[in-house]
Amino acid sequence: MSLMFSKLADYMEKLEKTPSYLEKTQLIVSLLKETSPEDTNSVVLLLLGRVYPAYVSLELGMGVQLVKRAVASATGYDMNVIDKEFAKTGDLGVVVQKLLEKKRQVTLFRKPLTVKRVHEILAKIPEMTGAGSQDLRINSVIGLLNDADPLEARFIVRTVLGESRTGVAEGRLRDAIAEAFNVPPELVEQAYTYLNDHGEVAKIAAEEGAKGLEKVGPIIGRPLNVMLAQRVDTIDEILERMGGKAAWEWKLDGMRILVHKDNEKIKLFTRRQEDVTSSFPDLVEAQKTAIKAKTAIVDGEMIATDSITGKPMPFQEVLKRRRKYEIKEKITEIPVSIQFFDILLLNNKNLMGEPYLKRRQILENTIKPIPDKVSVVKQLVSGNKKEIEKFMKESLKAGHEGLLVKELNSVYRAGRREFLWLKFKPEVETIDVAVVGAWYGKGKRAGTFGSYLVAVRNEEDEKFYTITKVGSGLTDEQLEEFTKMFKEIIAKTKPEEIVAELEPNVWFKPNVVWEIVYEEIQPSPHEKHTSSFGLRFPRFVKIREDKNVNQVNTVEEVRYLYEKQEKRKGKAMKN
Ligand code: AMP
Repeated sequence: MSLMFSKLADYMEKLEKTPSYLEKTQLIVSLLKETSPEDTNSVVLLLLGRVYPAYVSLELGMGVQLVKRAVASATGYDMNVIDKEFAKTGDLGVVVQKLLEKKRQVTLFRKPLTVKRVHEILAKIPEMTGAGSQDLRINSVIGLLNDADPLEARFIVRTVLGESRTGVAEGRLRDAIAEAFNVPPELVEQAYTYLNDHGEVAKIAAEEGAKGLEKVGPIIGRPLNVMLAQRVDTIDEILERMGGKAAWEWKLDGMRILVHKDNEKIKLFTRRQEDVTSSFPDLVEAQKTAIKAKTAIVDGEMIATDSITGKPMPFQEVLKRRRKYEIKEKITEIPVSIQFFDILLLNNKNLMGEPYLKRRQILENTIKPIPDKVSVVKQLVSGNKKEIEKFMKESLKAGHEGLLVKELNSVYRAGRREFLWLKFKPEVETIDVAVVGAWYGKGKRAGTFGSYLVAVRNEEDEKFYTITKVGSGLTDEQLEEFTKMFKEIIAKTKPEEIVAELEPNVWFKPNVVWEIVYEEIQPSPHEKHTSSFGLRFPRFVKIREDKNVNQVNTVEEVRYLYEKQEKRKGKAMKN
């Protein structure tokens, strides 16, 4: 017997009322315990205010206006009343509940609603298309509302509108599912990275427990979460983390794509699980011959190449290919190719638990390169700094971003950003700054200056405006040496040519020029850095004894560099 929908509605009301995270989790746990396994999937989806899991792009297609019509019909009130009530709360669920409570005429033959029936009826709505489908959709909802009590109606209407207002987010479900079915939360999370559907995860946990969850792997045709990389600044640090040796791959700046091959059927998904297959017919065709397997899931980066220079086009060009119309025209204008770097599944075998080197070998054996269309990304396995530097130069010379470093034995950790994959990009720009203040270090570094406040020059008033605090990049010897040197020139009060809001422990008269590198210039509130700019990942490079302090970079130059950088990356649109 399926769970009564009224039970679910009771729980949803309680969930809506309690703001406490712990209480919410406990409510979900007891609801899941009361639910029989056959209903688990439906209960979880409905709790989230969904009819289908997020990765399924089916919409009920019923906006507020349509649902209002259903509410009018089911409650017997006319649209004016509905509109007036709706204006009060903006919540049609509350409106239908209130009006049904007031409804004078009681429906005589109410057929009690079960979770199964509600879910089945709602799930059929997206299939209703074509002429007259709008009425069919409204009638389905009216049918449900006629059998609903006021509280049930509140949640039916909200579900139709794609909201539950119970404060149950996907993230909270992990712990509730784990507790309800007595399985480790990590397994719930792992299964979710493959299935992208907590309803299905909960059902497996309910029916098969931890054993069932352990068996879950990638599914052809279903998008999954990709593995991500951490940023590390130097080759030395990378080698230290990776145990002296690692795989270095070119880092391409394009669009992350997972290709799913199921015999002749190819699907392309982005890192956000969007199905972009129809935008890239040229690539789809190529995969059919390039991937020598019946079934496979392959991970790679799609880039566009300039046919004249042979260099990669800026990332924004690739984005222009993600479109629904004029696809053919763009194929020649912006030719794209894909370079693979990982394989997650081959002929229905899950490879994600295999070590990196083995997956790479399998990848190379599986991909038949097609010139200008499909290849395997360039790779070097090495622990030799010179060799790595050379490889980095080659990547940059070819117009790419840097290197992606991979731990040789690492498994593929879907959805994780850990230190198994590292990105290594050059710090391209450097600027010259005046050192204007410092803070004492802590612990081992107490007594020496641990970080310095640095500034650029404003040509108009000839004053120094702060841009960043910098502490990294200094060796222990330099820390000692600079502390000695700067202690000699500590100013009693803040020199008047410095415009700063931050208060370092000590001020220096601007005298010393440093060259520093950074990854990015960011706008900064004036209350923090008075130049209005800040630097991300600033690092000391060297002292510029050849420069006097009036030759440091200016605020205007920083603005120019910032604008250039923004043009270059168009990052806001990055997928
Ligand atoms: P980021 O977006 O800066 O965090 O860098 C990670 C991204 O680099 C990945 O999501 C991929 O889209 C991209 N990428 C480019 N080349 C590679 C590669 N060889 N291995 C893994 N990811 C790569």
